[in-house]
Amino acid sequence: MTTFSELGIGKRLCASITEMGWTEPTPIQVQAVPEGMSGKDMFGQAQTGTGKTGAYSMIALGRTRPGSDIPTTLVLTPTRELAEQVSKEMKQLSANTRHRIVAVYGGASIPDQIRKLEMGCDVVVGTPGRILDLNRRGNLRFDAVKELIIDEADRMLDMGFMEDMETIISLAPENRQTLMFSATLSDEVRSIAERSMKEPIEVSVSHDELVSDLVRQYYVEVKRNGKMDILRDIMANGDPKMVVFCSTKKMVDDLYSGLSEEGLKVGALHGDMPQLRRDRTIRGFKNDRMNMLIATDVAARGLDIDNIEVVVNYDAPLDPETYTHRIGRAGRAGRTGVSITFITPKEDRRIGVYEEYMDRKVERVTRKQIQGMQISNPELKALHADERRDEKPRKKKVKATITKEASKGLEDATVLSLDIGKTSGTTRTDLVSHITRCAGITEDKIGRIGMGSSSSFVEIDTSIAGEVLKAVNGSRINGKKIRASFAPEKRKCKDKLADKGRK
Ligand code: AMP
Repeated sequence: MTTFSELGIGKRLCASITEMGWTEPTPIQVQAVPEGMSGKDMFGQAQTGTGKTGAYSMIALGRTRPGSDIPTTLVLTPTRELAEQVSKEMKQLSANTRHRIVAVYGGASIPDQIRKLEMGCDVVVGTPGRILDLNRRGNLRFDAVKELIIDEADRMLDMGFMEDMETIISLAPENRQTLMFSATLSDEVRSIAERSMKEPIEVSVSHDELVSDLVRQYYVEVKRNGKMDILRDIMANGDPKMVVFCSTKKMVDDLYSGLSEEGLKVGALHGDMPQLRRDRTIRGFKNDRMNMLIATDVAARGLDIDNIEVVVNYDAPLDPETYTHRIGRAGRAGRTGVSITFITPKEDRRIGVYEEYMDRKVERVTRKQIQGMQISNPELKALHADERRDEKPRKKKVKATITKEASKGLEDATVLSLDIGKTSGTTRTDLVSHITRCAGITEDKIGRIGMGSSSSFVEIDTSIAGEVLKAVNGSRINGKKIRASFAPEKRKCKDKLADKGRK
């Protein structure tokens, strides 16, 4: 067994790692860190869950001295969620080295980010668009960059960041070290790798290393219309913390509405939802305000939650890579987990494909066996409860809890009532984009939204509620003129769940 101190990263980093509770390096860390510490450029083929963030962070923090005014390390990530996660992990790793880390990304206040940069920092983690924007404004200099890290390069290209990425690479000093990670290796990724690196060494984790032995993998044969019943059986089995993967956004929406209408507390995540709502859902799931998250692959990418007990493949994925990526959400950080894949008669060949790719068995179970299965893990729940005890107390709750989605909402909110609801075909997303456009406000001024069949209730930051009311009243959504008013504080709400949190 290789130890962290054998990776050549210095005592202080090792001390932080011990404090984080990591006991041994993951395979990619064993491969990548010593090579990276010697200064070589590197291309790493690795997915989330392998410890790749730890690998490149150890290299960057191990090779740069803290205390710089302008960043010596630049980490590019495709999404703000990933930027936040990476910066959080880097902050923990630098608890003893004292490197200062700043995260920057679109959709958040630029002046705040500029203020943080002005205070000086060693590492900037962020999305390419915002990094470039800050550079052009003169607030983020690249001249001291020694470590350039490109994380999830394939996803960065999918999201249209090619040009921004190339510009950043061209502006970074020549004598830097470049570390690039990608889950897949397309021609485009290869071409960027060739243009941005000098004789890179390649590291990768094999497929079977990607799948933790801690995940017990099962599949159940099911008719298309029988999936919901089995999902209920799984939920009834101790209300485990689970992620349910669907193949389309529509499927996510349908499943979410179906379960919410039954009064169940669930969260949904897909790419069409406003960022603010996605953040709230992830927070709600992390903080156990809901135990089920229904998601598409794209939206769930980069989710960093350690205590997931079950991954359900509600729709079995076509390719084995997506399968391994999904089930890797369970069995993280040394904890055990279960995956259950729903297989319809037409999909019966897929299991064999997954098995071959992973070199692991997926065991067939019946619905009855699932009902009797030990799914929820009491030890994991107890451990997580202990961890949460150390967290900050929650902020004060707002008075009117009006949504099915469990979330924190704004600290000081006023509820507006609109005479438009679900029967008009309007969604929460439509309401948010209409209100932001019409009142010229940002999404963070909107809190929770409750939708009835013909009316909706929307929380607005109290300081601007009057202006928003004026702007929205009389405006049109899909041609329909809407009336807006302040909602009575003790409004009766038909939705049972919606009233649950109310004092
Ligand atoms: P990543 O692949 O970077 O998304 O990391 C997956 C998860 O594993 C994160 O929650 C890390 O904090 C955690 N992790 C990374 N390296 C180790 C390690 N050596 N031991 C235990 N957990 C780790």
